[in-house]
Amino acid sequence: MLRAVLFDLDNTLYSYDEAHAAAWLALTDYAGEQLSLAPERFEALHAQADRTLRAHAGDGPVVHNRLIRYQLLLEALGQPLWHAPLMAACYWSNFLGRLRLFPGTKEGLEALRQAGCRLGVATNMTADRQFDKLERLGLWPWVDALVTSEELGAEKPDARVFLRCAEKLGCAAAECVCVGDGWKTDVLGAQNAGMLPVWFRPDGGEAEGVPVIRSLTELPELLKTL
Ligand SMILES: [Mg+2]
Repeated sequence: MLRAVLFDLDNTLYSYDEAHAAAWLALTDYAGEQLSLAPERFEALHAQADRTLRAHAGDGPVVHNRLIRYQLLLEALGQPLWHAPLMAACYWSNFLGRLRLFPGTKEGLEALRQAGCRLGVATNMTADRQFDKLERLGLWPWVDALVTSEELGAEKPDARVFLRCAEKLGCAAAECVCVGDGWKTDVLGAQNAGMLPVWFRPDGGEAEGVPVIRSLTELPELLKTL
């Protein structure tokens, strides 16, 4: 019997792409004004800093830390490191200022709550930013458990992220459905953890053997069929 639903956060409960686009634009402006970098040059340096970070720290949750990424970028440029926290603040203030829930997110969560489901968020990211997003989005009333990859030192699709969230919800893996936009991270990860996946695709689409939804409002009816 299904007792819990685990959700991815970014691009599942709200539009990460929209918020990131606004934040990236502001950051590119900062780089132009403060570091005299053209947008293409900044983008290339940013990608290089990301590769440097992964080369030294691996692909764990630290790769999401923008402060460290900007530090590496500045080191490569030979520019003062005091820009790094200002760049991070620029990015995140613009990001948080542009958060938008997908249509039907709260309605879907509330319907699941009314149906007696426990609700969890299992997400790849540093804890501080995910706390900020959940607060700004007003989603805390529908979060019974939260697991960030930073907390575990492991990233989805690693089964540990899903299983720890289920544990916090007091449920077995077989009692959980997972909803997310990532095919590898969410769908395959959930299957690997012994949970039922639902692929969230707001623009539509199909997948063989895996239910697809465009809105969370479709979930209560779908769950009756699983
Ligand atoms: Mg996602």
